[in-house]
Amino acid sequence: MAPSVWESARALRAAYAAGTLLPSQVIAAALDRIALRDPKLHAFLHLDSERARQEAVEWDGLYAQARRNAAGDTLPPLAGIPVAVKDNLCTRGVPTTCGSRILDGWLPPYDATVIARLRRAGAVIIGKTNLDEFAMGSSTENSAFGPTRNPWDLSRVPGGSSGGSAAAVAAGYVPLALGSDTGGSIRQPAGFCGVVGLKPTYGRVSRYGLVAFASSLDQIGPFARDVADCALLLNVIAGADPRDSTSADVPVPDFLGATDQPRHGIRLGVPSEAFGSGVDAGVAEAVRAALDTFDNLGFRVEEIALPTLDAALPTYYLIAPAEASSNLARYDGVRHGMRDGSDDLFEMVTRTRQRGFGAEVKRRIMLGTYALSAGYYEAFYIKAQKVRTLVARDFDRAFAQVDIVVMPTSPTLPFAIGERVDDPLQMYFSDIFTIPVNLAGLPGLSLPCGFSAGLPVGMQLVGRAFDETTLLQAGGAYQQATSWHLRHAPEA
Ligand code: GLN
Repeated sequence: MAPSVWESARALRAAYAAGTLLPSQVIAAALDRIALRDPKLHAFLHLDSERARQEAVEWDGLYAQARRNAAGDTLPPLAGIPVAVKDNLCTRGVPTTCGSRILDGWLPPYDATVIARLRRAGAVIIGKTNLDEFAMGSSTENSAFGPTRNPWDLSRVPGGSSGGSAAAVAAGYVPLALGSDTGGSIRQPAGFCGVVGLKPTYGRVSRYGLVAFASSLDQIGPFARDVADCALLLNVIAGADPRDSTSADVPVPDFLGATDQPRHGIRLGVPSEAFGSGVDAGVAEAVRAALDTFDNLGFRVEEIALPTLDAALPTYYLIAPAEASSNLARYDGVRHGMRDGSDDLFEMVTRTRQRGFGAEVKRRIMLGTYALSAGYYEAFYIKAQKVRTLVARDFDRAFAQVDIVVMPTSPTLPFAIGERVDDPLQMYFSDIFTIPVNLAGLPGLSLPCGFSAGLPVGMQLVGRAFDETTLLQAGGAYQQATSWHLRHAPEA
């Protein structure tokens, strides 16, 4: 069997076990495709090609051995599967830049918990993907190393900040990738690139080794081409971790097993606020058509209210920068990566930060420092925390009535590269429907639900805390009835 670049992780795994395909063939095909296409697309910042090839050959041998053994297939769930990871996840001895000059040359001395769990599950990590600097952005244009392009239209952005991971999955490089999501950075690029992306409940996945942006909002999650693969990867990374005190000690269900268990009577709530002004007609149309599909499948669709939806964006732009200004204080030229100057400490720190950070990161540090400063703290930061509680209560009220809240993932289609770089407010607007979900700590799943002007549209399913299962079941039912997720970006 010739390796198809569009195969799911589940199909690859089955073919390896049956001996019809070798991990080394699949890894070689992935690396060839990246070598051919990535000079244009720029999804990767760093490839770990040699190690990937070596590991693949080892898996070839282990699969052959397993087939000879009467014991059957005892290899781990991602054995020999190529996976890409966002470059803000620490990988021991492998460059981790966060898309920033300030971390140039830094080699993490340890693996993030999710990286260790991927390796334990047998995944072959082939490289680190591009992102907006320190995950601050919605287009991947804030990377210090140049933007990633959207595989559906190379003149457009892939979304962000996990644009490299979304593009790597959408371009047929890898079936699975990891990203991080503080205000939409998994879901929005998943929507823009026509793939599936999940932000788990806050606490579901350990953040140990994820370079912190806004610690009360950050969460790591999977990208895949279908809901079942997304569930498979979530199962690998989820679960409590003694190294992250905010990881929750709650049972991890069999997400993959649940995706194709039909479940009846799931109630969907649609906030009227999510279809108001600022939402592209093509986006609204595709999401409404998806709601009709759900209706036909026997889901109950009703209207709900999320009155604080509008307040979420300004609230986030106080809380996230406040936390970022504190988290990023550690980059001082002393401990990590780049250093500019040596004689005078104050001057060295100043010059390193001046040269090392890009414009958006500096803007966030200034906004956050201002919001936390004496005299403004009560008026801005504390007030934002109170509004955050109101946003969470809106969702509580909605979930007394329905099981899932459905919204567009993003109000617009993927925009042109360069279109919003000089207009931060327009850029921030991209996340208007994803940010409230981080503020409330809830799980959100984005999945492809149609096209407009040839570009993918994503819809977002938001669930109760720790109820990713219901989202995956609804998404699984939708994908069984539709074929949007089976379309592939053109071969450019
Ligand atoms: N686009 C949002 C921001 O710039 C969210 C980014 C993210 O989720 N990491 O902050």
